[in-house]
Amino acid sequence: MAETPSPLQPLDEDWQRALCVVAHPDDMEFGAAAAVARWTGQGKHVVYCMVTSGEAGIDGLAPDACREVREEEQVRSAEIVGVDAVDFLRQPDGVLEYGVALRSVIAAEVRRHRPDIVITGNFRDTWGGRNLNQADHIAVGRAVLDAVRDAGNRWVFADQLGDGPDGLEPWGGVREVWAFGSPEATHAVDTTDTFDAGVESLKAHAAYIDGLGWENWDPREFLEGMSRAAGSRLGVAFAAPFEVFPMGWGE
Ligand SMILES: [Zn+2]
Repeated sequence: MAETPSPLQPLDEDWQRALCVVAHPDDMEFGAAAAVARWTGQGKHVVYCMVTSGEAGIDGLAPDACREVREEEQVRSAEIVGVDAVDFLRQPDGVLEYGVALRSVIAAEVRRHRPDIVITGNFRDTWGGRNLNQADHIAVGRAVLDAVRDAGNRWVFADQLGDGPDGLEPWGGVREVWAFGSPEATHAVDTTDTFDAGVESLKAHAAYIDGLGWENWDPREFLEGMSRAAGSRLGVAFAAPFEVFPMGWGE
């Protein structure tokens, strides 16, 4: 018999600004869009940042054409959950490398948007079973954790600051990084009331979903399965699970 999954704690919702940094268009929609819809509905400000444009994501479509389609789908998908700012960093899809270069472009985003909370996707090796996570997700998640600290240090990536072309200031105000869909999730947010917006947001990636060629795959059913499992651990119908990384000291 399977072990009873442990309860999840409600996420802190006492914040105003979030920056979501993920590897690909569609990453937010595979687990976090309904949560975003809830937060924008509360009047919070949420920005999406796509590290790549997912241009290597459709087998039958070459990258230059694919990039355009996927950026358009992502902008539409974001609008559905109340996000009107989507940044595309246009790093190379499929071959992202964790390292200083990736930390630098993400740190600039953190300095530009000055969020309280930074959200990324699961960057553990698996999704909790035996299915392996994808290399770009792992590189981005690890780089996000570091870039959040880099952003607060005026001596790191100093060319982004002051009189440089970007004219940014250091930003050390990120309280926590949250990774949605992590098998190590400890927290969750109730998405029962915004579940439908999350489904519509995923459906907006029509060209991508078509390109996957998964026969009879239903976005609603897929999201229901995940959300119900997390919901039962939070004591609600549907929820989105997150692993929480505090960015201060002493925890
Ligand atoms: Zn992805």
